[in-house]
Amino acid sequence: MRFNFTDEEETFRQKVCQFLVREMSPKSVDAHRDSREGNGYTEEFTKSFRKELAQHGLIGVGWPKEYGGQGKNMIFEAILSDEMEYHGAPSTGRAISYIPASILAYGTEYQKSHFLPQIASGDIDFFLGYSEPEAGSDLASLKTRAVADGDDFIITGEKAFSSDAHHADYGWVAVRTDPDLPRHKGISLFIVDMNSPGISMGGFNTISGWYHPTVTFDQVRVSRSSVLGEINMGWYYIMGAIDYERAVIGTPGMLLRSFDRLIEYCKSTKRQGKYIIEDPVIRQKLARIYADVEASRLMSYWVASMHARGHQPQHETGLAFLVKRETVREIDEVAIDILGPLAQLQRGDPSAPFDGEFEHNYFDRLFFHFAAGGFDISRNVIASRGLGLPRGT
Ligand SMILES: Cc1cc2nc3c(=O)[nH]c(=O)nc-3n(C[C@H](O)[C@H](O)[C@H](O)COP(=O)(O)OP(=O)(O)OC[C@H]3O[C@@H](n4cnc5c(N)ncnc54)[C@H](O)[C@@H]3O)c2cc1C
Repeated sequence: MRFNFTDEEETFRQKVCQFLVREMSPKSVDAHRDSREGNGYTEEFTKSFRKELAQHGLIGVGWPKEYGGQGKNMIFEAILSDEMEYHGAPSTGRAISYIPASILAYGTEYQKSHFLPQIASGDIDFFLGYSEPEAGSDLASLKTRAVADGDDFIITGEKAFSSDAHHADYGWVAVRTDPDLPRHKGISLFIVDMNSPGISMGGFNTISGWYHPTVTFDQVRVSRSSVLGEINMGWYYIMGAIDYERAVIGTPGMLLRSFDRLIEYCKSTKRQGKYIIEDPVIRQKLARIYADVEASRLMSYWVASMHARGHQPQHETGLAFLVKRETVREIDEVAIDILGPLAQLQRGDPSAPFDGEFEHNYFDRLFFHFAAGGFDISRNVIASRGLGLPRGT
């Protein structure tokens, strides 16, 4: 069996690729690096990159035409994400891809007409307010509360690990609206304007140096129209939104980038008079990883094609996401082995291979093991939703 992209999809990939080669030139990358930011670039660059995406018609490719999109399908969104990762572009998936997909699927007409044009023009960004200090993998135990007050709600609580919240225009915030209902049923999703009075932020740095905010809501008043879709349906929307998120971040660009660079290094670097690639043990390792790289590529486009055919993938998204992230970590670890002492050299050191990218990735991507439904949680989902195994206690 042979899987091919259509001519239209290939043409789209080339267009995206040409755009990214221009935008992500080594000069531009060097000028805008910022290790304090999650995606590694200054916020100004990320914003202007988003505007450029919009101007080149690359936001909303998969949305219906009546909402300003191009009416294409999820394969095109996957190609875009794949190429952006491969070229090391600032990650903008949340703003341009999985939040709008969720607004389209679950939002009210007002929310679609209000937010989608601003997203399409690259003007707004969101943060994901799911996790709390006491609610991570077990998200249904979240405590942030919204209490009705006339036509408004008053939100109080704390969100943790809120990536990029300090730059966000809106929060996509999971809140308990009915504490008397079973815990999965009394949750709603709010879209909260970050300029609302009562929002404050603290934060800390991750092991690889980027700033990670926590967001406190102290009696923040929001209107009823900020509830995504229907009240108390939040858990259902969150699960759908997380599936979109995993479908987008499960695309293989990041691992293809790391793998290609590692192969390039092994082909061009000599040790004891021989190219590293000639070492039989290293060849074995790389060949084994290559099988996983291909599996990841096929699985992620399998998920995209299910979306494109109008199906709602379930455990398949978790499978693609897990294989991608585990393979990325395998490459990170094998790269550290192969580079040896050079793997310790950091960005900016003239002797650091690929400007310290492998060193940075090794630490930065530690969170793949547990965040956004890490390896254990993904396996649980595959076991219960995919294989029908009983849930653990
Ligand atoms: C860099 C980074 C960015 C993040 N960005 C965001 C964001 O933007 N928005 C947001 O809302 N959250 C974000 N998070 C939070 C992230 O989703 C949580 O870290 C994650 O849900 C795990 O929660 P926890 O850290 O409380 O760990 P815990 O839930 O306490 O889990 C600890 C360990 O136990 C394992 N574990 C837990 N329960 C089970 C189980 N039932 N079966 C098997 N193993 C289990 C986990 O896999 C993990 O390894 C981010 C986290 C990081 C590190």
